[in-house]
Amino acid sequence: MPELVESINCPKCGGPLNLVPGEVIVTCPYCGTASRFQGDKPFVLRHSMLAARVDRDGAVRMIQGWMDGGVMKPDDLRKASRIASMECVYLPFYVFEVDATTSYSGVLSRTGTNERRTGDLRRDYFWKILGRRSGDFPTREFKLPLGFKVPFDTAGMVRDSRFLNAEVDEDEADRIAREQVDDHQRQLLKDLVDTIEDARTAIDLKDAEFLHAPIWFSTYEYRGRTFQILIDAASGEVIRGDIPPPSGGFGEFMKGAANDLFRR
Ligand SMILES: [Zn+2]
Repeated sequence: MPELVESINCPKCGGPLNLVPGEVIVTCPYCGTASRFQGDKPFVLRHSMLAARVDRDGAVRMIQGWMDGGVMKPDDLRKASRIASMECVYLPFYVFEVDATTSYSGVLSRTGTNERRTGDLRRDYFWKILGRRSGDFPTREFKLPLGFKVPFDTAGMVRDSRFLNAEVDEDEADRIAREQVDDHQRQLLKDLVDTIEDARTAIDLKDAEFLHAPIWFSTYEYRGRTFQILIDAASGEVIRGDIPPPSGGFGEFMKGAANDLFRR
């Protein structure tokens, strides 16, 4: 059990909130109000969640379907696997709606001649930042289906699910999002110029949201080893599934190699 540092009451309903070290935004388990604690005065944050449409049985069916289909999987994956654990976890995210414009100058040399190029690279994003400091979650791969967004309501949560408060506050998340967008824009510039001489990104933050998304974290066992599979409990999509490596036989290896070719 994590150590409790102090006990504070919810600014909305007065219910007792337990603050765990490292957590900066705490959701009231009684009324669902999200508060940011700074000093002794809590700020209430606008808070939403994604509605879970996939219950435990639904998630099991998704996993079985995933095991049955697709390339690069052992033929007996579904038959020889056993689901070892399943837990629905509500993860905190910040979503920033941003317009990014990168003014750049550089040199295009791939054509054989050195051409100077200048221009503006404009993109808009819903950029996601996970509100936790640790834990392995593929935030960039996660599509975060904003279409399932509803006001936060503890009554609408999956039974026996685990709820994680945010360890990263919105100011820090804002800063991280700006850094990542800037970095991403620079990556995109590599398609336009081979040498970047100058690049400045202006980021216009249009909206920011704090929300919780339900994810089924599950593990399965296959031939004595454990693998992880993550399912979006709102959309039902597999976010990431670990596939067992080929069992080592030459035939299996060739089959894997052939599948690899077809994938491209
Ligand atoms: Zn409350």
